[in-house]
Order: sequence, then structure tokens, then C-alpha cells
Amino acid sequence: MKKCNKCLQVESKDLFYKRKDQKDGFATICKQCDKDQHSSPEARERKNKARREKHKENSEVRNSKRREQYKNPDVKAKIKEEHAKYYANNKDHVIQKSKKYAENNPDKRKQYSKKHKNNNRESISERQRIYHQANSAKINARIRIWKSENIHLVNASHAQRRASKLQATPSWANQLAIKEIYKLAELKTKETGIPHHVDHYYPLRGKLVSGLHNEFNLQVIPASENLRKSNKYHPDQDTNTKAA
Ligand SMILES: [Zn+2]
Repeated sequence: MKKCNKCLQVESKDLFYKRKDQKDGFATICKQCDKDQHSSPEARERKNKARREKHKENSEVRNSKRREQYKNPDVKAKIKEEHAKYYANNKDHVIQKSKKYAENNPDKRKQYSKKHKNNNRESISERQRIYHQANSAKINARIRIWKSENIHLVNASHAQRRASKLQATPSWANQLAIKEIYKLAELKTKETGIPHHVDHYYPLRGKLVSGLHNEFNLQVIPASENLRKSNKYHPDQDTNTKAA
């Protein structure tokens, strides 16, 4: 018989684990207490932490080994082939997983794609060139549709280009407000059936005073008025129906 140091019960010796380092050859606490001690939440957390650290260490070793191997073109080709095979067999799973990862790590994804773009400028633009060549009809159709649905953005961008040519856009101009004004012109055109333009109250290249391309110098007026005005006072303005 032996007294357990933990629960202090006197129990038969086969209820204790054998320990060679103990004088009497048995552990100081009984099997049950030993078990309880190891299954406490703290003990479990300790064990898990150790396991995680070990795992991290192992994967670092494994990854650095792989990076080394990857430098060998044969190995690289083989790994790529394996990956392609895995992807083909687990496409849905892989896509799901990478979607989830992207959602959980938006910054990382941005960083990565920035880095990728920087490191692969030539191959990316080459790929884009080839894609454009092969799909120009499709792309142009898509652009046409987008433009027809976003006339105000197109007009705003045309005006922006003209203004930057004249260096008339101050850094504090509110681009969003400017785009809204172009949207308003488009809405008024649709609602009234009368073409409306966005007009620079002070023309960008006036004879006496030059205005700036910003939200305070823009007004929505009927196109006829704008054209009349442009003949008289606004020599810079375009006579097309898109934007002034
Ligand atoms: Zn005990």
C-alpha cells in the first residue's frame, strides 16, 4: 500500500505507475491523479502549445528544404506538375480555400499582387497583349457597353484630361463631387429629353480669367445655352455633345 501525494488516499501499489527514479519504484501520485493532472485544461493547453511550436519548427525546416530543391529546374518542373495534377483533381476545394484565405487576408493579398506585378511586368503585359489581340472584339464590345452605362464617368474623364492638359485641376478638387455633377447632367438629359452639358462657369482658358476644373466652377446647363455661351465667352469649350 502507498499514500498518494495528491489525493492523499492510501491505495494498492498497482494503482501507481512504476517509476525507476523513485526509491520504492512507484510514482508519488496515483494513476488517477496523474491522469487528472495531464487532462487539466492548463496541461492540455501546454501540450498543444508545445505541439504547435514543434509543428512550426518542422514546417520551417521543410519549407527551407523545399525552397532549396525548387532551385533545381527538374525538381521545379516535377513539383509544378504535381501541383497542376492536384489542382485538376481538387479544383473546387482549392478555389474555395484560396477565396477564404483572400477574404481573411485582404492586405496580404494586395501586397502579394503588387509584388507580383512589380516582378513580372514584362510577362504580364505580354500576356495582356496576346489576350487583347485574341479578344479585341469582345473587349471593345464590353468597353462600349460600360461607356454607354457610365456616360457621366466618361464625360468627367474627358473633362479631366482636358483640364490636366491645361493644368487646371487643383489638388484639392473633389473628384467624387465632380463625377456627381456629370451624373446630374446625364440625369437631366434623360429626364427632360433636352441635352444638358456640364459647363465651366469660368472657362478653363478664358480670354480674361481662366477657371479651374473643380466642383465649384462646374454647372449643369442645357447644351444649347452652353454652345451659345461657348461661342461668345468660352472659346475653349468643345462643341461635341459629351462634355464641356
Ligand atoms: Zn491520488
